[in-house]
Amino acid sequence: MKKHLSKNFRWVLLAAVLFAAAWIKLKPIALVPVAVGSVTPDPTATVVPTVRSTPSPTPTSTSASTPTSTPTVTATIQGQPYEIGLSVEGRPLEMVQFGSGAHHLLIIAGVHGGYEWNTVNLADELIIRLQSGDVAVPDDVTLFILRNLNPDGTAKQLGPDCRANADGVDLNRNWDANWQENWYGSECWSQRYLTAGTAPFSEPETKALSNFILENNIEALMNYHSAGLGIFPGGWWQDQASLNLASQLALVSPYQYPPYDSDCEYTGQLIDWASTQGIAAVDVELSNHTDTDLEINLRILKVFLNYQTYLDSK
Ligand SMILES: [Zn+2]
Repeated sequence: MKKHLSKNFRWVLLAAVLFAAAWIKLKPIALVPVAVGSVTPDPTATVVPTVRSTPSPTPTSTSASTPTSTPTVTATIQGQPYEIGLSVEGRPLEMVQFGSGAHHLLIIAGVHGGYEWNTVNLADELIIRLQSGDVAVPDDVTLFILRNLNPDGTAKQLGPDCRANADGVDLNRNWDANWQENWYGSECWSQRYLTAGTAPFSEPETKALSNFILENNIEALMNYHSAGLGIFPGGWWQDQASLNLASQLALVSPYQYPPYDSDCEYTGQLIDWASTQGIAAVDVELSNHTDTDLEINLRILKVFLNYQTYLDSK
């Protein structure tokens, strides 16, 4: 009986080993996205998904003052993302550079986080077109693309609840131009309670981006938003450089220009601050909260890249 049991045990053991080996071989391998354009909310979704994974590495710290995450990319390799700062929760703010000409241009996306996640997707699509050479950067131009100013917003959720950064601050009300602590009014976006921060540039995201803009002598910038209001020039309609840029972009797009006027008094805006620094600046609003309008924005990109040529011809 003992010998019989022992023999059965060996058979059971052998069967278990074979089963385990087969299971391991058949088990699917989890794929980890590594591409630059890794922000992939489902572009075919008709309903905004409620939760999405972060496009950036998960931070190891939730404290603004003591971020401990290590930047994943630091080199300024042409066409590859590098870090210009960290978000409140320690996610990298990724910049991508194309070309090395004297005229420095900048595209910014993701300012309003999860509410306007399609702008990050558009930035990634433009980056891919530039990387592949489909779109050429003129010799006298350097183009920078900040693919997501608010990675904490896009990491948390997609939808109006994640317009602000992790401090609850609207990153387009935190700039030093007509900054006001409160801007509420029925004419302005007021679906959720947000703040403008405790002071201009109180947030690490706006601080990092404003430093980058000044240190790199940016001459013109486009700031992507959604949705549907049109193209806004910086400087409250008094900055001729921003007006020129806005009107040139409007020529190749169906976006409303002059933009929809809601009677909102916009406070602390990036483009208005940029205009005070002598930078031609515009907000460009995509058609809705899901599409990237890629073909339209490839046309806009080509006009933007040749903006200096347009200025020289005046
Ligand atoms: Zn926006």
